[in-house]
Amino acid sequence: MKRIVLLGPPGAGKGTISELLIERLSLTHISVGDILRQNIKDNTELGKIASDYMSKGNLVPNEIIIAIVKDRLSKSDCQTQYLLDGYPRTIEQAKALDEFAAPEYVFNLYVDKDVIVNRLIGRRMCSKCGSIYHISKIDNDKVCPKCSGELYQRKDDNKEVVENRIDVYNKETAVLVDYYKDSERLINVDSSRDPEVIYKEIEKALND
Ligand code: AMP
Repeated sequence: MKRIVLLGPPGAGKGTISELLIERLSLTHISVGDILRQNIKDNTELGKIASDYMSKGNLVPNEIIIAIVKDRLSKSDCQTQYLLDGYPRTIEQAKALDEFAAPEYVFNLYVDKDVIVNRLIGRRMCSKCGSIYHISKIDNDKVCPKCSGELYQRKDDNKEVVENRIDVYNKETAVLVDYYKDSERLINVDSSRDPEVIYKEIEKALND
């Protein structure tokens, strides 16, 4: 069984590392942020509620998020494995997860604040294939080099909201490092390095 959580501040590279892990290890990727953004796009009730919190960089209330993740993890494609990206973000969410589908591996992607801010402000997403880029690594910040889809900047990737997201992480989410350390499931990973190097380290830990 490989039930995996990726922990780390916004901009630590959870999305980028997820792309590599799901492609190569056939894991079911669950990104709560992606689920919420899809709901906003589809203008659902959930989307209407979530958009207020997300546009400010605040967390969507626990009871809503826990219900979404519990339901998603009950599906047949998550019974023996999953890759959770962006959940849990609070102690309450972590405790709930331990009750319905406890993770065995928690990778804590740690990185300096300066690096995070720079990564987030320069981040661009592909509207077609979902790939993630940094403007310093691509020639054209409007077109996806993989599928020619249109690149866009997430609404919450601006300086003011990024600062709040980092504060929220420090206040609400950073305590999860101790929570998982205490139950001996935590593996710290220096996320300032190249994604391929990080991927190899994670793959090795999963095979040990
Ligand atoms: P992300 O795509 O993981 O950066 O998440 C974007 C935004 O979605 C966050 O800033 C929160 O507003 C919301 N969100 C994502 N995951 C969670 C979660 N586990 N708990 C509460 N809010 C979340």
